[in-house]
Amino acid sequence: MTQSPVRTTKLFINGQEVDALSGETFETINPATGNVIAHVAQAGDEDVDAAVRAAHEAHVSGVWREKSAAERSIILNRVADLMQENLAGLAALETEDNGKPINESSFIDLPMAIDAFRFYASAARMISGQAVPLPGALTYTLKEPVGVCAQIIPWNFPLMMAAWKLGPALAAGNTVVLKPAEQTPLTALRLAEIFSAAGMPDGVVNVITGDGRTGASLVKHPLVDKIAFTGSTEVGKQVMVEAAHSLKRVSLELGGKAPNVVFADADLDQAVNGALFAIYFNQGQICTAGSRLFLQDSIHDAFMEKFLSKIATLRIGDPTQNTTQIGPVASQDQFDKVTRYIEIGKKEGATLAFGGEVLRDEERKGYFIQPTVFTDVHNSMQIAQEEIFGPVLSVIRFKDEDDAARLVNDIPYGLVSAIWTQDIKKAHNFARRIQAGYVWINTYNVLPVEAPFGGYKQSGFGRELGLGALEMYTETKNVYVELGAQAPITGWYGV
Ligand code: ADP
Repeated sequence: MTQSPVRTTKLFINGQEVDALSGETFETINPATGNVIAHVAQAGDEDVDAAVRAAHEAHVSGVWREKSAAERSIILNRVADLMQENLAGLAALETEDNGKPINESSFIDLPMAIDAFRFYASAARMISGQAVPLPGALTYTLKEPVGVCAQIIPWNFPLMMAAWKLGPALAAGNTVVLKPAEQTPLTALRLAEIFSAAGMPDGVVNVITGDGRTGASLVKHPLVDKIAFTGSTEVGKQVMVEAAHSLKRVSLELGGKAPNVVFADADLDQAVNGALFAIYFNQGQICTAGSRLFLQDSIHDAFMEKFLSKIATLRIGDPTQNTTQIGPVASQDQFDKVTRYIEIGKKEGATLAFGGEVLRDEERKGYFIQPTVFTDVHNSMQIAQEEIFGPVLSVIRFKDEDDAARLVNDIPYGLVSAIWTQDIKKAHNFARRIQAGYVWINTYNVLPVEAPFGGYKQSGFGRELGLGALEMYTETKNVYVELGAQAPITGWYGV
């Protein structure tokens, strides 16, 4: 792996690159090598204040919200075009900062982020209200932007998460302060430059870097109108408590522990491939990870035989190589967390059927962990109940549909789920029994931008993607126009 020079990055506030007022910085590392790749500005309270004020002033001035939908659409499409032109560089930077295989950055993350901007460029032109004609009156609704949106995102899909958040917020005419995760801030800063180049007015999109303190300061700021947060359930709860003090609008996309249910009548080869992609895509660092694999008793052994022979063929290594399928996990913290859960699984009495080893030594300083599978897992074990956010699969047996429905729903999370069966009635009926915001039937991790995505239970609320996401970024105002001569209130006091 070639080592790029260590960069120094700044905050992006009101169209300008500026240092943090305190001068404080932190390091971001390449998880494949452990090398420092950038010194990043740590935004403090005053920087957060400057970014929020810039967004507030841009909102009040009307420089964005008063543009026609067609003009907003043109700029969002230009952002998509510039991302497309710079795809190779952005993908390489994402892989360097996050560790994900270059094939995933190039063929999944970037295209999906670009697609989100294109979709919301079109969606901007579809925002409309409702008219309700009444006898002697007309009422109609206006969909207005909420105002300043604080958007706090995680490190697992840095650019894609930024696009999912910025797309609908900007389409609806809001202004934004985006805070990428401290582990992966580099592509969001590059995106800020792209916004400027695309002609976005200053102050509409601000990007500030920093750790949880920066996020907390943003959530507290009185001029923030709405918070969109993607991250852990634990921090999501804190965000909601803090937001309650001033009743800021909140949408939360939080953790998951998704059930992937294989019935005996499934196409086993398809289900094996699907189960591998469900858990090992992005090194399992995805809130949709199919980390609980439910296998019907009668096919358990046949399935596992196929699964274990396939898993052994996965290519782990340098994420900059096109042939690599599994890269390192994203950080030292993540490495420690995943390895701790592997030890917990062993102690709990589950059978370690594959993996469990780290591929790290004096030579190899990256955070590489083997794809890992535990069988004989009981639903009450920690490895079955808690989000590991890494390449660790828990396999659980079930008898029949009732048994599966009970086990699948016996968890505080409810983000996504999947069912593998060739029985169409069973598939649709079981989909209704799952308490989760998304059900895949005979596939996994496919998230078209047109369809709503979000959680039940402690996986959060609000829906990203689709036209529905615009609801989270608009206020509804009803306008009542008196048209009749005898309005009910004009004569009320006999005047
Ligand atoms: P993860 O466990 O995946 O790192 P976190 O929930 O800790 O997820 O982080 C997700 C995002 O939330 C990151 O951008 C992080 O800096 C930010 N964050 C962490 N703590 C807070 C907090 N108390 N308030 C607001 N944002 C926070």
